[in-house]
Amino acid sequence: MTVTGSPLLAVRDLTVRYGAVPALRDVTFEVPPNSALAVLGPNGAGKSTLARALSGLVPAAAGSFALDGRDLTGQPPDAIRRAGLVHLPEGRGVFPTLTVLENLRMATAGDRRGRPAALERAFEIFPVLRERRRQAAGTLSGGEQQMLSLARALTADPRLVIADELSLGLAPKMVDVVFESLRRARSAGVAVVMIEQFASRALDFADHCLVLRRGSVAWAGAAGLAGPELLRRYLGEATAA
Ligand code: ATP
Repeated sequence: MTVTGSPLLAVRDLTVRYGAVPALRDVTFEVPPNSALAVLGPNGAGKSTLARALSGLVPAAAGSFALDGRDLTGQPPDAIRRAGLVHLPEGRGVFPTLTVLENLRMATAGDRRGRPAALERAFEIFPVLRERRRQAAGTLSGGEQQMLSLARALTADPRLVIADELSLGLAPKMVDVVFESLRRARSAGVAVVMIEQFASRALDFADHCLVLRRGSVAWAGAAGLAGPELLRRYLGEATAA
C-alpha cells in the first residue's frame, strides 16, 4: 500500500514460528498515524499471531517492527505497551466483580499523579461509563465490557491499539457499541489495527486493509478497494458478509 509521510507502525518482513511451523512469513506493512487498518483472513491465516507478535507475546523469528521509528522487536510486552502499542486481546480483559471505576483506577495504578486526568479523559470519550461507574463490570453488556476494556487501554494514552476480534460472540447491537467505541478512540487520535470477523464492517471502518493467507500477505491496499469479489476470493462466502 502507498503511504505518505512517516508511518506510525512499520512492520518489516516479520516472521513468526511455533516450533518449526511458520505462522507468519515475511509480513510487511505500515500504519500511518491516526489511521485504521483492517487485518482480514480465513481461520488460521495468522491474524492473532500478528497481534501477539506486535505486543511481544510471541517472539519474531525474523524481521522487525517499529513504532514512531523506535524498534520494538524483541521487547517485552510491558515495554511495548509503555511505548504506546496496546493489544486488546479476544475476551474482555475486565475484572467482573470490580466496579467500572475500580477497573479504570486499576489500569492507572502505575501513574497515580496522572490518574484523575486519565479517568476524566476516559469518561469524556465514553460517557456511558461515567453513568455506570459504580456498577460491577460483570453486569455490563458485552459491548459495554469491550468499551471498558478499550477505556482501560486508553488510560495509558496509547498511539496505537490492536483490537483483536472485539466483537466476537456479541449481539449485533453490541457490535455497534464496539465499533462506535473504536471510532471514538480514533477521534481521540489513536490509530487502530483491527482484526475482525465482520469483514465488511471492518472495511467500512478502516482506511487500509491487509489480507493474510497462510501466514503471508495475500493482498494489501485501500479499504475502499477491497470489494466483495476480493473478499470472496480470500475469505470465502461465510466471512465476507
Ligand atoms: P482465527 O481466525 O481462526 O483466529 P488466525 O488467523 O488468528 O485464525 P492464528 O491463530 O494466528 O490464526 O494461527 C496461525 C497458525 O498458527 C495456525 O495454523 C495455527 O494453528 C498456528 N498456531 C497458532 N497458535 C499456535 C501455538 N500456540 N502453537 C502452535 N501453532 C499455533
